Amino acid sequence: MGITPDLDGTSGTYEANCHCGNVKFQVNISPALENYPVSICSICTHNGYALIYPYKKDIKFIQGKEALKDYRFGDKNLTHKFCPNCGTPVLFEFQTFYTELIGINVRTFKDIDMTTLKYKNVDGKSLSPKYEV
Ligand SMILES: [Zn+2]
Repeated sequence: MGITPDLDGTSGTYEANCHCGNVKFQVNISPALENYPVSICSICTHNGYALIYPYKKDIKFIQGKEALKDYRFGDKNLTHKFCPNCGTPVLFEFQTFYTELIGINVRTFKDIDMTTLKYKNVDGKSLSPKYEV
């Protein structure tokens, strides 16, 4: 089972991987995913990111972290990381602010139903015009 939310739903531990399985990790988040606002960012439509922002300390790589390739654009504050084998956008790291957090693509989580999640739209282009490619 890929999802193990605790009994009161306030946190959960999730197993995740890219499509080919080269990259595998586990992440603890609070609240549990069914209560977590998942961000769909307007700038991320190309990559299909559905993002949550757990603490870096709460992600544990099982394999493949070193295999991830970087992609940066705009002001280069974000380092997007994707699997070079299957192309799955896995996560991104902040370079200059929110550096204790990490953006995780919940589409990598095992056994989740994307239709049951709570979404909020983020207008990334308005937040930072520098993000234009
Ligand atoms: Zn992969």
